[in-house]
Amino acid sequence: MPLIPLLPIFHRFNREHFAGSLVYESKPIVSVRWSDGRLRNTAGLYRHGIKHGGERVCEIVLSSPLLENLPKSAIESTLCHEMIHAWIDLVLKISEGHGPNFHARMELINASQAQFKVSVRHQYPVPVKSPKWWGVCPSCGLKLPYKRLVKHAACKSCCNTFHAGKWHSSCVLSYEPIVNET
Ligand SMILES: [Zn+2]
Ligand SMILES: [Zn+2]
Repeated sequence: MPLIPLLPIFHRFNREHFAGSLVYESKPIVSVRWSDGRLRNTAGLYRHGIKHGGERVCEIVLSSPLLENLPKSAIESTLCHEMIHAWIDLVLKISEGHGPNFHARMELINASQAQFKVSVRHQYPVPVKSPKWWGVCPSCGLKLPYKRLVKHAACKSCCNTFHAGKWHSSCVLSYEPIVNET
């Protein structure tokens, strides 16, 4: 499914919910784009600052991997959420995150239409990373999947059974990579 263009929605929201304040001389004061395939930990973000290389950024980025297969209302809700952040930063010139101005504007927008709902947190499922390691208990041989290596993690059941629930070095897991058979 091709990604829908974000700019027309941005301009409509700007008129309907931000009194035109996010556009100056017919240009958006914040750029809006889809991410590449790597933005997977959040549905959207707003950022304003200077990158490592000294390049200035002021943009809203929506996650294409997370949003591309969701209904349009999910895209609208995420875009509108990030536009509230941009409005607070660039128009109100306040630094507040999800503070009182955010909540007030969100509630106003939610009360004014029924097509989408802005929420404080993006509620779309983040694809789960599959575990890469087996943590193996030297005492009972139990294997537990781990996404990353956790140093000194011990087998809970052996610590409970043999060491009165206290961590014990004889139950410290060793790790072996999980080999995917697919
Ligand atoms: Zn936010
Ligand atoms: Zn064990």
